[in-house]
Amino acid sequence: MNRSSFQQFHWHSQQFGCASNDIDCFYQQLQHQMQRLAMAKQTLGEIAAYPLDLYQSAEPQADKANILISAGFHGEEAAGPWGMLKFLSQLENDIFSQINLSVLPLVNPTGFKAGHRFNQFGENPNRGFAVEDGQAVVSEESSVEGKLLIAHQDLLKTLSRDGILTCHEDVLQHSCYVYSFEPGQAAGAFSTGLRDSLAHYFTLAADSTIDGWNLDKGLIHNHYDSSFESCLVQLGAKRGACSETPALEDFDQRINANCAVMQQFLNFSLKQS
Ligand SMILES: [Zn+2]
Repeated sequence: MNRSSFQQFHWHSQQFGCASNDIDCFYQQLQHQMQRLAMAKQTLGEIAAYPLDLYQSAEPQADKANILISAGFHGEEAAGPWGMLKFLSQLENDIFSQINLSVLPLVNPTGFKAGHRFNQFGENPNRGFAVEDGQAVVSEESSVEGKLLIAHQDLLKTLSRDGILTCHEDVLQHSCYVYSFEPGQAAGAFSTGLRDSLAHYFTLAADSTIDGWNLDKGLIHNHYDSSFESCLVQLGAKRGACSETPALEDFDQRINANCAVMQQFLNFSLKQS
């Protein structure tokens, strides 16, 4: 089976009281959380009428770990951004005295609003992050979102130095899995911890191949493609992951699972620092 790039997916969230693609509702609630947490916004660029916003700890501390969480690269994978919102709503301001947290809550707003995978220009926002001589470079596959992220690679490289988590969904699945990166070593506590946080909500995908990669015990480990997360690990992030929740399952459960995997990533990073 292949994923359709423009098939539209819409769900209703009981806990947020709106549709999965209600972008105005999403931005309104995001703004509320960002004001509460006093995170600093930097707009990396515009995609049609929407901004590509990055939020950082207002007062980053040089002796603390830098971690980055991103969501919403694929428009139909809506539980990522909503899970981010739930994760943010559960944070307290004192977290920023312990770690430098940055977030990209919604990378592909035009796809999110339409409820389809690609952006409104028909590009895949999570491909085209090529790396040459230690630098991310634009390729023919790069999207408008990707070009903006690549233009800010020095900043994003710094902000993800101690870890990058990006939250995706798989619309073909009833079960969950994780792409994990622990450069030069087998999957360890970082990878298995993230996987197990999802397995609390869904069954783990059976061993198989996905997009040609070996899926083993719910993990696809250290496989480099031209995705954003793979690129940041190649640029030096100590560890990285891409979580995949099953979009054939209940939407609110998927939101809860995305929130949980972000909390697991944060908690693991706090223990390392
Ligand atoms: Zn995706």
